[in-house]
Amino acid sequence: MRKKLVAGNWKMNGARESNAALLAALVGGVADCACDVAVCPPFPYLGQVADLLAGSKVALGAQTLSEHAAGAFTGEVAGAMLAEFGCRYVLVGHSERRTLFAECDGQVAAKFAAAQSAGLIPILCVGETLAQRESGETSSVVAAQMAAVIDVVGVKALASAVVAYEPVWAIGTGLTATPAQAQAVHAAIRAQVAALDADVAAGLRILYGGSVKAQNAADLFGQADIDGGLIGGAALVAEDFLAICRAAN
Ligand code: PEP
Repeated sequence: MRKKLVAGNWKMNGARESNAALLAALVGGVADCACDVAVCPPFPYLGQVADLLAGSKVALGAQTLSEHAAGAFTGEVAGAMLAEFGCRYVLVGHSERRTLFAECDGQVAAKFAAAQSAGLIPILCVGETLAQRESGETSSVVAAQMAAVIDVVGVKALASAVVAYEPVWAIGTGLTATPAQAQAVHAAIRAQVAALDADVAAGLRILYGGSVKAQNAADLFGQADIDGGLIGGAALVAEDFLAICRAAN
């Protein structure tokens, strides 16, 4: 039985005052949730959020990391730094990083490895664009994104990782994959991993992300291979995020 995980990706949103209000509501509200819960704030707020989450069941995550351990990489943040601030998770290969910051598959694989070297749990994001879906390439695109990481780190590395299937056309658009569309891709990801290692595949948490809301979360999370969600916009509103967490119960 895989324990569900609901992770909030705050993207480049937040301020000290609103963070404190949001987290106060979350920490109290998730106390009775059976699923794992995490929030991924922007880098400058990691210290503040770590303090506010201390002793709670909400884990801390970051939104990206450098593939390098240290050195002359102005503006970058190393995995060890995230670990020092109490991060448990880090997003790797989010589509906004792949598209807006030109992160290629090789860099995503290197970031995945760097996260694990620092003791962090990477949440590896994969997903197709609308054009790729419409031309029937969804399975091949997602399989290639998975393979690009597995080929570098090995399938066993997925035993200490999470995957998030996020169709690019559903992120921040209000469009959501239907539960059946999402389940089909999740099942394909699990089958791809199972072909290499059945035990790793059986334990692998595969989250769905892309305009998850309180209204659609239960149907998505009810699918056999959907093990929780990666939540963007709705993670910024305490009531919405809490309702999604409850849907994972
Ligand atoms: C995301 O940023 O990972 C995401 C899924 O965003 P949204 O929920 O806003 O579509």
